[in-house]
Amino acid sequence: MSNAIVAASINRTTVGHALRIMRREYAHNATALNALNKASVELSMTIWSFDGEALVIESRTNIGHKYTVTSAGCDGSCKARGSHWHQQAYELLVRAGRIATQPAKPRQTDEQYAKALELVDDLY
Ligand SMILES: [Zn+2]
Repeated sequence: MSNAIVAASINRTTVGHALRIMRREYAHNATALNALNKASVELSMTIWSFDGEALVIESRTNIGHKYTVTSAGCDGSCKARGSHWHQQAYELLVRAGRIATQPAKPRQTDEQYAKALELVDDLY
């Protein structure tokens, strides 16, 4: 799947879904969790673009400056070290893209559901 399709598939719902999953994963990593929460706020307030491969996001503190974040990390102009919100914003969008492009789980037909209930009933 092309990066453009992945990027175009990202929306508020998929970002929200990715955010919930990642918050659970970071439950025991306060640094990453704080960076993720900051990323979710900054993505809602800051001007950014994501093409499926690179996130370009405006600096909060240096007006007019833009950082580029890829799977390799932030560009050389970023002075932050360790897990920080630029990287979490990138991970959040990548995860949202993955969720957006996953095929929908097939639903059971009424017959399949009735059969499953029968099988469960047989257990008790
Ligand atoms: Zn950075």
